[in-house]
Amino acid sequence: MTDCIFCSIVDGEIPSDTVYEDDTVVAFHDANPLARGHTLVIPKAHHERLDDLPADLATDVFAAVHGLTGRVERAVDAEATTVAVNNGELAGQEVPHVHVHIVPRFADDGGRP
Ligand code: 5GP
Ligand code: ZN
Repeated sequence: MTDCIFCSIVDGEIPSDTVYEDDTVVAFHDANPLARGHTLVIPKAHHERLDDLPADLATDVFAAVHGLTGRVERAVDAEATTVAVNNGELAGQEVPHVHVHIVPRFADDGGRP
């Protein structure tokens, strides 16, 4: 048992709506979405910040992001996506396990996030 929410998701202890998974990366819908289809992409291994990630794992995470942006857009008929990392508490990182936000954008979304 771990006290990291995202490690618990990786371990299957907390359910999530998985949209992609490979050996090192998993992606799932955000529980409190900023927009329909808001997706989080995480390394399966626990690393707190982006700069803590080994380079090969950062490559895996961003390769998954690269493959998922179009898929996420099409799933909710969005026109674009905002891709973001809150890297550190001061930047708004609430879950201390690296994650990349893919937030679908719509013409009428008022400029979120
Ligand atoms: P942060 O502010 O750390 O960049 O973003 C953390 C994100 O994780 C938030 O958007 C929040 O809604 C999401 N989140 C927090 N706990 C859970 C959870 O248990 N399951 C899922 N699917 N998302 C979560
Ligand atoms: Zn973790």
